[in-house]
Amino acid sequence: MKGIIKFMKLIVSILIIFTLFSKIFAQNLPDYLDPGEHNFDKAGYKLFIEKKRNPKLLKEYIALEKRNYDVLRYDLYMDWYDLISKHFETGNLLTFEASNKIQLVILENNVSFIELDAMLLNIESITINGQPSNNSNKKALGILKVNFNQTFNSGDTVVLDIKYNFSSSENEGGINVYEKGTPIELGPPPNYDTVFIEEKIAYTMAEPIDARYWMPCNDRPYDKALSSFTVKVPKGYTVTSNGLLTKKVDLADSSTFFWKHDYPVTTYLMHAAASKYHYYYDWYRRVSNPDDSIKIEYYVWEKDFQDTSSDGMTHNATYAFRNSVKMMEFYSTIFGEYPYERYGMDAVLDCWFGGMEHQTITTLHRNVLRKKNRWGGNADNGNQLVIAHEMAHQWLGDLITCASWNDIWINEGGAVWSETLWQGRTNPDNYNWAIMGKMQTYLYYNTQNVQPPVYAPPIDNVFNYATTYMKAGSIYHMLGVMLGKERFLEILREMFAEYGYKSLDTEEFKNFLKSKVENPSVDFDTFFEQWIYKAGHPIYMVTHSTRKNQADEFYKVNLNLAQLQEGDDIPNVFQTCMWVKFFGPDGIVYIDSLVNKDRIEQFTFTLPFKPDSLQLDTVKTLCQVYAYVTDVEDNSDNATVIANIYPNPSINKDKSFLSLELKEDSFIDIEINDNLGRKMDKIKSGFLTSGYHLFDIQTKNLASGIYLISIQSKGKLITKQLNVLK
Ligand SMILES: [Zn+2]
Repeated sequence: MKGIIKFMKLIVSILIIFTLFSKIFAQNLPDYLDPGEHNFDKAGYKLFIEKKRNPKLLKEYIALEKRNYDVLRYDLYMDWYDLISKHFETGNLLTFEASNKIQLVILENNVSFIELDAMLLNIESITINGQPSNNSNKKALGILKVNFNQTFNSGDTVVLDIKYNFSSSENEGGINVYEKGTPIELGPPPNYDTVFIEEKIAYTMAEPIDARYWMPCNDRPYDKALSSFTVKVPKGYTVTSNGLLTKKVDLADSSTFFWKHDYPVTTYLMHAAASKYHYYYDWYRRVSNPDDSIKIEYYVWEKDFQDTSSDGMTHNATYAFRNSVKMMEFYSTIFGEYPYERYGMDAVLDCWFGGMEHQTITTLHRNVLRKKNRWGGNADNGNQLVIAHEMAHQWLGDLITCASWNDIWINEGGAVWSETLWQGRTNPDNYNWAIMGKMQTYLYYNTQNVQPPVYAPPIDNVFNYATTYMKAGSIYHMLGVMLGKERFLEILREMFAEYGYKSLDTEEFKNFLKSKVENPSVDFDTFFEQWIYKAGHPIYMVTHSTRKNQADEFYKVNLNLAQLQEGDDIPNVFQTCMWVKFFGPDGIVYIDSLVNKDRIEQFTFTLPFKPDSLQLDTVKTLCQVYAYVTDVEDNSDNATVIANIYPNPSINKDKSFLSLELKEDSFIDIEINDNLGRKMDKIKSGFLTSGYHLFDIQTKNLASGIYLISIQSKGKLITKQLNVLK
């Protein structure tokens, strides 16, 4: 029988609606994709990455274990008078004197020393509970070992008073100082886009591991403490920091600002900035109690406050911050009341990031105040999203904080998702467009380079835009889809109540969901394993066939889902909640949902019309569709086997897929022959159950030409033609 083409009972046409590798994935990032926080990706970010690759730091960077003490409070004093009043030129040193009083509680017995993090800091003296430290304190590889004069036991409180000075010949990231008048190139031509430092500025940055560059501390995100910042600057300068300004002392030529924060904060969220700022504020009336108001404060350069120009190329603070109060009302409504005593934003230049969610005092790249980007295009939408993103972090990131950098997705995914909630606050379509942009951005990056798992990003890529931001944001979205957005928000509010002012890791996040939801469509162990601990996403081949019921007017539609994704760290199966749209005559659309739990799975729907096509809802579920294949039959009663090959022709591909729908269980033989009838390969010989099956046809070693796939079942032979082009 081989080599003989028999009359085919089935006329099958293949309708390809959409393929994965279509041209929407152009070479450049499409316009609708939002570059977000990394809008200001510049040399500074490269330096930052280089620093994180430093093998000496590697060990400390990934240190995840908790130390044998817990910090209760930091009282930090920094004398920035010289730092600001002396002109900083190449070759000069940036220096300041400082002290940090650290109150901590010991967590183990017989503790004779502790370790703190300290980089670039010259330790001058340490007292322990008021007594000078007798033992030598060693500092090596960024670790300051403090030897006690005695042993301490669990529950003992220790107060360290550490006097030190900071000294560096360059801006190394933790401390940033820029002279007034310095030109800052904002990127490629046109050359009108040079801006200048309007006033001398000094500010700290800390995420993820740079707090140790300006204060000795337990620089691990899980450890939160109360804090105060006292900073001395030349008169005329303003200092902002975490919490509330409790006092300002003016002397003839200096001012000292006393900032105090009465809520626990982790080291990477501590911050101080000093410049000749214009300070102003709005009032936010708490949504939970309109009689209680807090300030939303702004620290911007005078020029940016006064700006009224309409060309959009200048910095206009009042325009940029016009939505702050509304945003605060919005997030306080959906996440629960704003959890701190005040909120503020300070604008800085130069810096490599778009925004940084320092607790109660977000730091923004000054360009967030500018309506147009460097090419003259609209930047306002992106700016509003940066402002929203950082504000949302006050809950997702600051109130609850990733316990280690492995868990950074909790912060960033939450803030990215929050951006889309703000965008969709009045119109669900806007939410859908926004979240689709995030998912498409992840998928775009993934076509460039296969992306690692969301959990525990590589050391030099902790802020991996594709996974830490876009995919993690999509994961929050999918939890919202699976649980219902309102229910998920309710669970998050409960999470803030339980873990607020503390940290949590990925397992705690998962277990909290488990404790709140009894029977999720996809159980949380599976959900977290596939989306967070493993890499990739489902890639679907979708085929369907329709049979008319003889007894009534209904149509039976078999929907066949095959997941094609493969790779080392990529799950064989993603269990997903999926929505399907069936399109029929006269614009009729029928939507149904399913839970896909197997790599190859068939679902049957009964419809009152014959669908022309169908579509998976790729807005609700992060996935790609490799191909839609529609089987159209003219003689369905007799059809026991429906077979399709895709792609066909196979052009420069390693394989095609053979999909089979069997009406009944049967023994089956599938072979591939060349057009002279020579057998090239056996694809399957054996028993198959009724339903849907998918086979690989390896084309890697086949020369260009026509091949015949013969499928023999119950004495009948079906032959399909495969065209291979190399
Ligand atoms: Zn963020």
